[in-house]
Amino acid sequence: MASKAAKKKTAKKPVKPAKRATAKKASKPKKPAAKAPAIARVPAGTRKIVMGEERIPKAWYNIMADLPVPLPPPLHPGTLQPIGPDDLAPLFPMSLIMQEVAQDRYIDIPKPVNDIYRMWRPTPLYRATALEKALGTTAKIYYKYEGVSPAGSHKPNTAVPQAFYNKQEGVSKLVTETGAGQWGSSLAMAGAMFGIEVKVFQVGVSFRQKPYRKALMQVYGAECVSSPSMETNAGRQILARDPHSNGSLGIAISEAVEVAATHDDTKYALGSVLNHVLMHQTVIGIEAIEQMAMAGAYPDVIVGCTGGGSNFAGLTFPFIGAQLRGGRKVKVIAAEPAACPSLTRGKYAYDFGDTSHMTPLVKMHTLGSTFMPPGFHAGGLRYHGMAPLVSHLKELGLIEAEAYTQNACFEAGVLFAKTEGIVPAPEATHAVKGAVDAALRAKRDGTSPTILFGLCGHGHFDMQAYTDYAAGKLEDSAYDDAALQAALAELPKLAAE
Ligand SMILES: *Cc1c(COP(=O)(O)O)cnc(C)c1O
Repeated sequence: MASKAAKKKTAKKPVKPAKRATAKKASKPKKPAAKAPAIARVPAGTRKIVMGEERIPKAWYNIMADLPVPLPPPLHPGTLQPIGPDDLAPLFPMSLIMQEVAQDRYIDIPKPVNDIYRMWRPTPLYRATALEKALGTTAKIYYKYEGVSPAGSHKPNTAVPQAFYNKQEGVSKLVTETGAGQWGSSLAMAGAMFGIEVKVFQVGVSFRQKPYRKALMQVYGAECVSSPSMETNAGRQILARDPHSNGSLGIAISEAVEVAATHDDTKYALGSVLNHVLMHQTVIGIEAIEQMAMAGAYPDVIVGCTGGGSNFAGLTFPFIGAQLRGGRKVKVIAAEPAACPSLTRGKYAYDFGDTSHMTPLVKMHTLGSTFMPPGFHAGGLRYHGMAPLVSHLKELGLIEAEAYTQNACFEAGVLFAKTEGIVPAPEATHAVKGAVDAALRAKRDGTSPTILFGLCGHGHFDMQAYTDYAAGKLEDSAYDDAALQAALAELPKLAAE
């Protein structure tokens, strides 16, 4: 099967695949591309490691090619059989469906996508000299900063190709959900650039708490609706039971999927979780490998925060892939919120991606699709499940996970802002906390590891959260075990499990 083929390839070319496979069939053998210029080392003590536009990756990295055990397939919710491309066709354009199941190690980035990436990519890699000093650590800390994108996070890395492929296949309208508003504003931007209408269902509690993200979506010309809404069956059912529902990502996904499934000119776009979304984010890690090399460094530890798993995968998969092909071993840590701990306390099982059970069943770490996350501030991390690929790597022991409470994360975020200057997005403070903990462990143990973490976004739209933190208003509620067990008891029952 797929993994065998991948292994064969690996056996021939253990470290560096010389040839890039493409999604399309190449009609004639390509001439080997002109050799990229050798990597120039930056002077010792360089704080900001930057590269020119010509070094934006030409292809995304697909970890499916290097998996030692193949990923369990998504199942049809009715038949419980593996789904085929046609089952997904009402929701996604065929090019993205093919990327979802692709086994090629590299998939070419189309020129129009590269043209937009060039507005902010490559993003900078920083050496956190000031943070190191404040911690008095012997560790070296680096961070890859995705907050320089126009929307302020990593999300445009996938919003842009998703809008591109939809446009190419004649789709006129995209519908999606958003939690804190990061994904909605990224897709709104990409839609504006490619001339596609965008409609966003925003989780009700964020819609009310974060009016400026909605305003940003509107600047880009998108329509933003509070979820649950009266516009869909899924929304109306929830409101009938609970007129004051705060909403959740699971509910907003149900609403968006329903709209896409019932309109011919409309497709659905997802900002995380799916294989192709994670793959689009690998530009982060591919660039980071080069930038670390420019600094003469390689990470011993990599930390990323996980909501659905996309920024984490984007940063870490290229490193994990190199390891799987015989390269250096890295310790990879997924940092998640204690209030929504899918990787550390969820069950690895087939579950629905949404609350109304319209999506396929995927095998993932889940808290149960009926899970209602408490209202903590890292809205982008409030999802009941985890990307199947990230979950699979956790099962294979290739990554670890740690859960942090929000006050501890904001404390790390404030220290980071005071030393490095950037105010991290509340989600990103989880990665900062993970990196700070790793650095303090090194100090205790008298070791000096190289730590790399993903600073996936800035917090300029989330200042209310910092105000509430400073006022001592944030609660550190771990998810209540009785509620967790109740949600897990409702997992779909499969004979094979
Ligand atoms: C959306 C978002 C996340 C969570 O999504 P992932 O798919 O886990 O990356 C984390 N951080 C920021 C800044 C986000 O916008």
